[in-house]
Amino acid sequence: MKPPYDFLNERKKEIDCVINEDIVIENRSSIPDWDTIPLEGKKWLQAESLACVYIDMVNSTKLQVNKHPKTAAKVYQLFIENMVQALQDYECEFIDIKGDGGFGIFIGTHASIKALCAAVTFKTLCYELLSTAIKDFKISAHIGIDEKQSLFKRIGLRGDWHNVVWAGKPVNMAAKLSALAEEQQIAISSRVFEKIIQPRFNKYAYLSCGCTADGVSGKSTSLWTELNVTGKGYFDFDKAYTCKSNWCKIHGNDYCEKLMKEAT
Ligand SMILES: [Zn+2]
Repeated sequence: MKPPYDFLNERKKEIDCVINEDIVIENRSSIPDWDTIPLEGKKWLQAESLACVYIDMVNSTKLQVNKHPKTAAKVYQLFIENMVQALQDYECEFIDIKGDGGFGIFIGTHASIKALCAAVTFKTLCYELLSTAIKDFKISAHIGIDEKQSLFKRIGLRGDWHNVVWAGKPVNMAAKLSALAEEQQIAISSRVFEKIIQPRFNKYAYLSCGCTADGVSGKSTSLWTELNVTGKGYFDFDKAYTCKSNWCKIHGNDYCEKLMKEAT
């Protein structure tokens, strides 16, 4: 350990260096390999269109880790492993794990659509497989998605103590949207909503297939409910939209495939 004022004097030189540095921003259309994301120095990368899907476990604070450590361990393992797998299967470019959840980053013009497909698939998996897997705890998720321009680079110390930092709205807004979402719900920003109502996507992402609970085909309706979030000071948009539906057993495969194909 250094005496505190030796530490401060040493840091001051580094701080002055950063202040006097001219930051260089380089545009990217994908996330490079971990080792080649800038770590030190003045260079930052920027993605014009970056979507973040933020996934949180519902009621993780009620998990009795002290009383039932083995049950709690299984819950964490099932939730996180399946979340990572779902994100990876939908061309997610970066995954970060945050204890009882995590987030995935998608880049590109239709990043939000891929993020939505991954989110609905994980939500369906939670509902159909995980919710009843553990006897004393119902595993479920609440999810937020946002998309906007973002800067990124690795920050920290060379070696083990660094991580990619996402400077911009998407990760922050997606985390707040996931907190706004109820159990088994996806909440999206108006920016993401604008993407899903585009003609090439709306039939599969905005409207329902028309199936009812008993499998009979009915009328196709909007899957999304508008929410006014003007009163919540922390959003940089006025409207959010929420959806509770999972993939339909009859049309889910086809709808998801069409969305992913259009988004690629
Ligand atoms: Zn259907």
